[in-house]
Amino acid sequence: MYLVCDGMGGAAAGEIASSLAVDEMMRLLTDRDTETQLPELIDQAIAAANQAIYSRAQANQKLNGMGTTMVALVVEERHVRLINIGDSRCYRLRAGHLEQISLDHSLVDEQVRLGRMTPAEALRSPLRNVITRALGTQSRVTPDIFDLEAEPGDLFLLCSDGLTRELADAKIESLLGAAVPLGGLCSSLVDAANHAGGGDNITCLLVRAKG
Ligand code: CA
Repeated sequence: MYLVCDGMGGAAAGEIASSLAVDEMMRLLTDRDTETQLPELIDQAIAAANQAIYSRAQANQKLNGMGTTMVALVVEERHVRLINIGDSRCYRLRAGHLEQISLDHSLVDEQVRLGRMTPAEALRSPLRNVITRALGTQSRVTPDIFDLEAEPGDLFLLCSDGLTRELADAKIESLLGAAVPLGGLCSSLVDAANHAGGGDNITCLLVRAKG
């Protein structure tokens, strides 16, 4: 499993929410018994992560309203399950072409998908920070789940919005095309986003399917 969680909430609350989410997902999905089928296990892990954050926030006023995004890949052989909640993203680079696979759960993106706003308006909107789904902010959450088959050489990018706010998809595509080890590619993405303004924390994770 590979995952990126981008926390939100005042003071240290966002960091608590994102680390609770990672801990719960790792606990439930890496220690798995073989009896339970993977889709059911994923549901259980997400419910547990959501509950861990939600109950901690309920118990402490300072943590009220904290939550986190989550974008995760759960891999079994060539079968990849993509889990998404919030506005972190999963992209796939295949044969040099970058495609965004996850759909943002953000107010402006949903307006764009409904044809009520143009992508340019969405970028300028004062509401562009509003996300419509998050882990831990409500007693229940429904993730988007995408079933994918990885092809040899596919490169998956999981990233927080700190990257995609600063870099257009075309820029990400060209940076990922460099013949550099994955760690170096991550650094070049983060450097480019910082160079472009670096207005938010930036996390990115790259996973390449074996050839
Ligand atoms: Ca962020």
